[in-house]
Amino acid sequence: MNKTQKLAVVVPAAGVGRRMGQDIPKQYLLLDGQPILGRTLARLLACEEVGLVVVALGEDDPWFEALPLARDPRILKVRGGAERAHSVLAGLKALDEQAYPWVMVHDAARPLVTNTDLVLLMDQARQGRGAILAAPVVDTMKLADETGSIDGTVPRERLWRAFTPQCFPTAALRQALEQGLADGAAITDEASAMERQGHKVALVAGREDNIKITNPRDLALAEYLLAAQEREGIA
Ligand code: C5P
Repeated sequence: MNKTQKLAVVVPAAGVGRRMGQDIPKQYLLLDGQPILGRTLARLLACEEVGLVVVALGEDDPWFEALPLARDPRILKVRGGAERAHSVLAGLKALDEQAYPWVMVHDAARPLVTNTDLVLLMDQARQGRGAILAAPVVDTMKLADETGSIDGTVPRERLWRAFTPQCFPTAALRQALEQGLADGAAITDEASAMERQGHKVALVAGREDNIKITNPRDLALAEYLLAAQEREGIA
């Protein structure tokens, strides 16, 4: 793999963010005065190794055009799909696989990803068939039964929480997602589609402040973490 070749990033941003309970999708809520998606795109485009960002948007999205980066020539817009995996696939289909043989997929709702983690992930991924940012589980893990009681304790030594970005060869990821969707598999991240195809995907320990904003309380936490990153000189 040519290390100077730039990567593309697909950003699924077509979700409505129902768990947030707001009138507008969560990726457009303000984090310290700026829309979350705008911050996410700015972090990705600030990475020297990123050449193109494909954003999958909802059918009726009146908010994207108002972002400061909306007309950046390195951004390509596509129409998202019914589920996250459909949105990612729509983004991959818009990519020239020759120009971008490697791709990262990153949640719109993770605006705190750092340049150091992006570069670490790309380097690890390109040594094999792909990699994801993740963190080892620290809590004791319980399995619930149907009544909400404990059915057992799951050994946590080998458990990790999967984050994004996730980085793969573009053609292999497209094929894995198409197959997964055709099989009706539950695909909540890109790695799960690759795993089904038998690809070995590396786990890369990433920063735990790379949170996904899902619930209203996450916004306050993200503001705190953003301020901490700014004090660290990251922004
Ligand atoms: O809902 P969840 O937080 O898992 O969504 C993860 C990402 O996938 C979000 O950035 C969301 O906008 C995106 N998504 C999408 N198309 C869908 C559903 C979710 O692009 N149909």
